[in-house]
Amino acid sequence: MSSNHDPPSKESPSHRFGTLAVHAGQSPEPTTGAIMPPVFQTSTYVQPELGRHTGYEYARVQNPTREALERNVAGLEGGKHGIAFASGLAAIEAIVKLLSAGDHVVSEENTYGGTHRMFTKVLSRLGINFTFVDSRDSDQIRDAMRPETRLVHLETPTNPMMRLCDIQEAASIAHEGDALLCVDNTFASPYNQRPLDLGADLSVHSSTKYLNGHSDIIGGVMALNDDDLSERIHFVRKSSGAVPGPMDCWLCLRGTKTLHLRMEAHNRNGERVARFLQKHPKVEEAHYPGLESHPQHELAARQMKGYSGMVAVEMGSKERAKAFVEGTRLFSLAESLGGVESLIGIPAIMTHASVPPDRRAALGVTDGLVRLSVGIEDPDDLLEDLEGALESV
Ligand SMILES: *Cc1c(COP(=O)(O)O)cnc(C)c1O
Repeated sequence: MSSNHDPPSKESPSHRFGTLAVHAGQSPEPTTGAIMPPVFQTSTYVQPELGRHTGYEYARVQNPTREALERNVAGLEGGKHGIAFASGLAAIEAIVKLLSAGDHVVSEENTYGGTHRMFTKVLSRLGINFTFVDSRDSDQIRDAMRPETRLVHLETPTNPMMRLCDIQEAASIAHEGDALLCVDNTFASPYNQRPLDLGADLSVHSSTKYLNGHSDIIGGVMALNDDDLSERIHFVRKSSGAVPGPMDCWLCLRGTKTLHLRMEAHNRNGERVARFLQKHPKVEEAHYPGLESHPQHELAARQMKGYSGMVAVEMGSKERAKAFVEGTRLFSLAESLGGVESLIGIPAIMTHASVPPDRRAALGVTDGLVRLSVGIEDPDDLLEDLEGALESV
């Protein structure tokens, strides 16, 4: 299921990020020389004789378009293996399915809402136990570890509060206790943060967001180094079946080719928007890891190369937040993030509506909190749009 089906490609692991983004895992298609990996839209492959096949038997198990995407993302994350899924949640679920009833997971408490829902409403029913911690404080991870802890699942930065955890320290805590460390790297992207380099065993993504970057697919992917772990996850995927279609893999691969260019623009625009909103008299507080006022800015500077385009601001009340998000023209009112276009929303009413109100309050996800996914448009137009919307607050 790895790269041995393909001729050697041009990139070497020593190449820099932008070169890997364009070339990693891809080589001209051998029959025609097509420079773009074709969309292998097929469910099965013809076998030349009984008992002998080409390496490709059935598309749930092998698909060349999917494998090209997997090698590309592995290259960007500095990992040996990439494994793609039908969604980000399917990728995270496959990791937890390595565990058995009675095993224990330590999870960051402020993960993506869907991850929290899957852990508490689906997987815990099957006998897997979860403890939720504030992983900004590594001691909370350490204290939650049990002899049967097999996985530590973190997300950094978190959605929507932009909380960080120290990946290096979390890795040493997980490994002392014979557990794997998985980091949801969706908000940072491998351009800004590479969890495997910091000791994580798995870096997982909703490729729906920055990796694909064009808001036109749902997908998930993970990167990892360990051969045995990769085999076990491939086994879960082929047994459970949450594979992405070849067209979605092709679109995502087209997205990752420009990841470095897009992330530079997201980082630049995100920082400008965060600084603008932080200073604006109608905004109470801005949350962005790149601001010196962020309580974990020092950690952000140490473990991230850039701070991406995700910004959250406290407007003080639901009414003020509503006026702000309904007053923009360029920023569209929508869920999701990480696309080229700018989006705005109120997490408490949209993405985090399923989180109980008392938990939301404890996390700081108030009804007045507005989240922005800053796109790659001209930043002057974005600031003008925000200024205009804030006039109506
Ligand atoms: C969107 C998201 C997910 C879930 O991914 P899907 O592709 O929607 O299944 C998981 N983690 C984070 C941080 C996300 O933003």
